Amino acid sequence: MEKERLFGKTLNELIAITKRVGLPGFAAKQIADWLYRKEITSIEEMTNLSKKMRDLLSTDYEIGLYSPESASESTDGTKKYLYKVLKGKYIETAYIPDTDRATICVSSQAGCKMGCIFCMTGKQGFQGNLTSNEILNQFRSLPEFGNLTNMVYMGMGEPLDNITEVLKSLDILTGEWGYGWSPTRITVSTVGLITGIKEFLEKSRCHLAVSLHSPFDEERRILMPVQKTNTVKEVLDIIRNFDFNSQRRVSFEYILFKGVNDTPAHIKELARILNGIKCRINIIRFHPIPGSEFRSPDNNATISFREALVRKGLLTTIRASRGVDIQAACGLLSTLEQNKSTG
Ligand code: SF4
Repeated sequence: MEKERLFGKTLNELIAITKRVGLPGFAAKQIADWLYRKEITSIEEMTNLSKKMRDLLSTDYEIGLYSPESASESTDGTKKYLYKVLKGKYIETAYIPDTDRATICVSSQAGCKMGCIFCMTGKQGFQGNLTSNEILNQFRSLPEFGNLTNMVYMGMGEPLDNITEVLKSLDILTGEWGYGWSPTRITVSTVGLITGIKEFLEKSRCHLAVSLHSPFDEERRILMPVQKTNTVKEVLDIIRNFDFNSQRRVSFEYILFKGVNDTPAHIKELARILNGIKCRINIIRFHPIPGSEFRSPDNNATISFREALVRKGLLTTIRASRGVDIQAACGLLSTLEQNKSTG
């Protein structure tokens, strides 16, 4: 019988496990300390638990850490790792070093249900939710784990469609019994799932990033089918009415598609719908995917678009393109790997 993984359990779950196994209550904090602070890889190493306690624990549980299957490195230092999850599916994790920070971009699902038409992961369809173990293993088993300063949930999948496991992982990352990271080092991205955003804002203190990509209903419905049931208007209403403290940030991601969402009308409408919201817009260059007609505007056009938004009073940045030579578009690498294994 397969053993259950301890890594990725919250403190409350560890308390329940100690009860089930018959260990004293204080052992849960000790186990969390070994898992998330002392970075052990086997139950045997939990030396402040008696041999008997370790044996009891080992009967049904294991630590549950595993290395990436493969890695590719870009000339700009960005790395992409493939992890195997859910018995034979692949997910991607990116490591993005910068001058003053090193960011990990994690996946929260294998594949995705959201079907955004410009996205390779969307084309894979949905293959399953990752557990908190599978989300955090990307972080802990990353060879550059020790360098990490920031984490974004912007890899494969829609994090708020897997909110229970994502919240667990955030609890472990930010809990003082866990990794003790400041929530301001973590950003969770969403296409705009209404109930998920409400729950996320209530139960976590991490930053929120909403993928916008168009301020117009009709156009956004084509780009992102989620707009049919979860409109940007509703998302903005929630954000407007939520009391963001000075530490917590909301940003809007905007992939620029040449001749589609890069016109003066888009600039005007963006300024109108975001009026009164303290936020940042991140313009992202589109990384082409096979079979897609979409193209990215050139550098000058991208800069002009940003400047026009800034003139409208919107804090706007252009996200640097990273890892272009290693299949930067999310979902490309895992699709190639999946195709290989299915022959
Ligand atoms: S862009 Fe994100 S939400 Fe949309 S299909 Fe791709 S992974 Fe899913």
